Amino acid sequence: MVYAQVHLALPAWIHEAVDPLTVCADDTSKLALAIELSRLNVRHETGGPFGAAVFDESSGRLIGVGVNRVLPLACSVAHAETMAYMTAQARTQKVRLNEDGTRIVLATSSQPCCMCYGATFWAGIDTLLIGARSEDVMALTDFDEGPLPADWIGELGKRGIGVRRDLLRERACAVLGEYGRSEHRRY
Ligand SMILES: [Zn+2]
Repeated sequence: MVYAQVHLALPAWIHEAVDPLTVCADDTSKLALAIELSRLNVRHETGGPFGAAVFDESSGRLIGVGVNRVLPLACSVAHAETMAYMTAQARTQKVRLNEDGTRIVLATSSQPCCMCYGATFWAGIDTLLIGARSEDVMALTDFDEGPLPADWIGELGKRGIGVRRDLLRERACAVLGEYGRSEHRRY
């Protein structure tokens, strides 16, 4: 018999940590939530040191969240950004989250890897908010972020996706550093 289903889930603590009625009015508060999710994922040992959150840009309303779940779920695509896209898509039942003209923001604690970079095109995102840079990730942890186009920001821009980065970069790096120094790095 072939294995015909996959089931991906965020950790149980997410329900206590995240108020579904959250509204984050500005870039900094959106990014702060993504970083807090990354910190809690490390603290609870429920995945790698990455968090992400999807928002309605005009209202600041939270639509979906994600944290890295790769090792707990034995699933290489279960990154924070992809988990946030999938939970937001499940909630709204929209494949492209901005398909009705709603402008959508993704806040992510670290620069998307090459897979999440690609996923961002198809998820229907208008604005990408980034904390730590990929060089921070690779300096502070063992993760390889993979190959990106040299002008990855420009390629996003051609498709109408704006990028604002280095938001709360030091706070994001602090979580990466905590994880990188941890003795329990297989999660
Ligand atoms: Zn990724």
